[in-house]
Amino acid sequence: MTELKQIKALIREVPDFPEPGISFKDITTLLRDASGLKATVDALVERFAGEQIDVVVGIESRGFVIGTPMALALGCGFVPIRKPGKLPSSTLRQEYTLEYGTDAVEIHEDAIGAGERVLMVDDLLATGGTMEASCQLVERLRATIAGVGFIVELEFLNGRNRLRDYRVDSLVRY
Ligand code: AMP
Repeated sequence: MTELKQIKALIREVPDFPEPGISFKDITTLLRDASGLKATVDALVERFAGEQIDVVVGIESRGFVIGTPMALALGCGFVPIRKPGKLPSSTLRQEYTLEYGTDAVEIHEDAIGAGERVLMVDDLLATGGTMEASCQLVERLRATIAGVGFIVELEFLNGRNRLRDYRVDSLVRY
């Protein structure tokens, strides 16, 4: 089995979670597997190894799990983007629209310097709303998005369209 097939096989699909009709892509089974975890981090790092990356930004909370080992491998630091009210110091906030209502993400306003090259990471690309808002936060800090990486992409939701200004890559697609 190729590494990408191995990664896909280790992701558990949970039907009707968190609501009827949603097939939840559960990466806890992938993280639990030593070779699957290593293959995932290595494959994502390899996709962006040609870019000069100054900092990895991960989105709460599964983006933290995958983003931190990527930062270690790339020899740079890690910055979290969190749901509102969790970061202790001064923050920037970006709101975004959900199917019903709005949500928001926050970053520490001193976390990234102007002109730094940032690799954005999350576990899964669905509609792209979370990552689009997160990229807007980073750009408000006048940093450059060098790439956007996901383990999983749900292609039928066309989230890539909202990220078309960036270099987007994913390991496995549904
Ligand atoms: P979106 O903003 O629509 O791209 O949603 C992305 C976020 O929602 C990611 O951080 C995922 O962790 C989570 N998510 C959305 N749909 C799923 C799904 N089918 N399975 C697992 N996680 C999902």
